Amino acid sequence: MSDQPETLSPGPSGGARSCRDERPAFVDLLPPCNSACPAGENIQRWLRHVQSGDYEKAWRVLTEDNPLPATMGRICYHPCETKCNRAEFDSAVGVNAVERFVGDEALKHGWQFAKPVKETGKRVLVVGAGPSGLSAAYHLRKAGHTVAIHDAGPSAGGMMRFGIPRYRLPRDVLDAEIQRILDLGVELKLDAKVDDLQAAMAAGRFDAAFLGVGAQAARRAEIPAVAAATIVDAVSLLRSVEGGEKPLLGRRVAVYGGGNTALDTARTARRLGAAEPVIVYRRIRAKMPAHDFEVEEALEEGVTVKWLSTIKRVNDRDITIERMELDANGFPQPTGSFEILAADCVALALGQEVEIDLIERIPAIAIAGGVVEVDPNMMTGAEGIFAGGDMVPGERTATVAIGHGKKAAQNIDAWLRQKDQHREPRHAAATSINTWYYSKTPRAERPKLALARRQTTFDEVVLGLGDVSARNEARRCLSCGNCFACDSCIDVCPENAVSRVGERYEIDTQRCTSCKLCVKECPCGAITMVPNMAAIIPTRATDTAPDRSLGCPAPQAR
Ligand SMILES: Cc1cc2nc3c(=O)[nH]c(=O)nc-3n(C[C@H](O)[C@H](O)[C@H](O)COP(=O)(O)OP(=O)(O)OC[C@H]3O[C@@H](n4cnc5c(N)ncnc54)[C@H](O)[C@@H]3O)c2cc1C
Ligand code: SF4
Ligand code: SF4
Ligand code: SF4
Repeated sequence: MSDQPETLSPGPSGGARSCRDERPAFVDLLPPCNSACPAGENIQRWLRHVQSGDYEKAWRVLTEDNPLPATMGRICYHPCETKCNRAEFDSAVGVNAVERFVGDEALKHGWQFAKPVKETGKRVLVVGAGPSGLSAAYHLRKAGHTVAIHDAGPSAGGMMRFGIPRYRLPRDVLDAEIQRILDLGVELKLDAKVDDLQAAMAAGRFDAAFLGVGAQAARRAEIPAVAAATIVDAVSLLRSVEGGEKPLLGRRVAVYGGGNTALDTARTARRLGAAEPVIVYRRIRAKMPAHDFEVEEALEEGVTVKWLSTIKRVNDRDITIERMELDANGFPQPTGSFEILAADCVALALGQEVEIDLIERIPAIAIAGGVVEVDPNMMTGAEGIFAGGDMVPGERTATVAIGHGKKAAQNIDAWLRQKDQHREPRHAAATSINTWYYSKTPRAERPKLALARRQTTFDEVVLGLGDVSARNEARRCLSCGNCFACDSCIDVCPENAVSRVGERYEIDTQRCTSCKLCVKECPCGAITMVPNMAAIIPTRATDTAPDRSLGCPAPQAR
């Protein structure tokens, strides 16, 4: 940076230009939404195609990273929006709603994935057809490998089918997106539990394996109960509803837990006829792991919550709960004060554990804290056996599972080809946005089903955006860190040093006086000052968002 005061900096006269030590340069930066998406979607790039009405191109860009956009556009907790720069200006871009729109367009028009160009002859076994397994299978097949998925269940989808209720994810949407992956030539074997991984790999002559068996076993709690008490685990309850059963829960159902599973169970019970579903949770709302919008939707539907309460005993028609109070550190402590609550049934939603019997005979695979340890390439301690999703350390969401599947597939591909995985250096983060350039625009909210139908049917609750709303919502994107061809830098330059040459912008360094006006003017932070000796890189006028973020977070200790 020059230490000359700005008022004394060389003017447009030209003679002093060689003295300056900085000049403006175009950059492509990583937008915060992209960085936060666990699937590593290039959000800004596919939003650009939505803006121009090319929905198929948007879908093709989006599915380079995530093969289930219509599904994720319904169930992803959209961390991309939490990090969206626009949130500080008015409200975050509704990325999730637009993603769903793009996914639904693809289903409507029957767009298919391009088949792999070349077969590698390598065979990969994927164990589990949940989001991590489906994502791994998709990316591996696209790379030309022969892929077979073996799943213990009667249908593919994992917890997206047997956990998440259909009022949040209609099954025709899930089925169609899974079928499109299978149509790439992925083999799916159902009712095919893998008990011994090495035996299964040898029998199928597989060269590598990806494990995505999730966390299927419900965590239990030792609660004293009379013999006649009805206690069920929440995940089994949701699974039986998916299997077409209508469990007899009674009018008053108590759900024990504070996560999304507890919310889904209480809302399902409401739809099955329980007039008074109540969630019993030991902490306060601010500490609830469930997302706020899910709590709101549940409350709207008539679910109530007993905050700061634990279940002490289950009788045949009621439960005894103990009131808790927060200590100085904010942790709930028992008070010795009890209350009786009417309940015909108690559903335990206390989390799930990983079942590891299929790898018990492989001592090289380390288990710590009930989950499988993997290295930064998602490989377990056993060569050629990779794992992801709920069974490895990390956040347990479908989007993280999709990101793990993608990352593992890239590394399995590199391992099979005996190559180091080529990693582009991560682009620097986009931080500087000039919001004066924009006017405030309300975010397009998705409509919801009428309350009466929500309480009595499993019809989808949150509906989709229409064509115009989706396109307008995409237009709210500020294109953080990447040129969107507004021409402001051309207009503002007093030396006429910036020009557009076809698809590109260029700065004539002979004319430029390093006055920085273009840097200050650029709405999205796509021009920065660099040392004068740095290489000159013109930017493209369109489609400049970096091709990839690393996406899914590295596995972390829980
Ligand atoms: C009720 C509920 C609601 C949720 N809601 C959301 C949500 O809205 N959004 C979100 O992002 N996440 C949500 N989640 C979390 C999300 O569903 C999981 O994080 C995700 O499904 C994990 O994916 P996975 O591929 O690791 O495993 P899973 O989805 O659990 O799939 C594992 C698959 O492996 C199969 N399998 C298991 N053992 C074997 C074996 N030995 N051999 C062969 N197959 C086997 C199973 O049959 C299953 O199909 C929810 C979870 C639950 C329980
Ligand atoms: S998958 Fe989730 S985090 Fe990624 S872009 Fe879609 S909504 Fe955002
Ligand atoms: S404004 Fe657009 S590019 Fe910027 S964070 Fe939000 S969605 Fe991403
Ligand atoms: S001012 Fe406009 S045209 Fe110039 S780099 Fe920034 S976004 Fe691109």
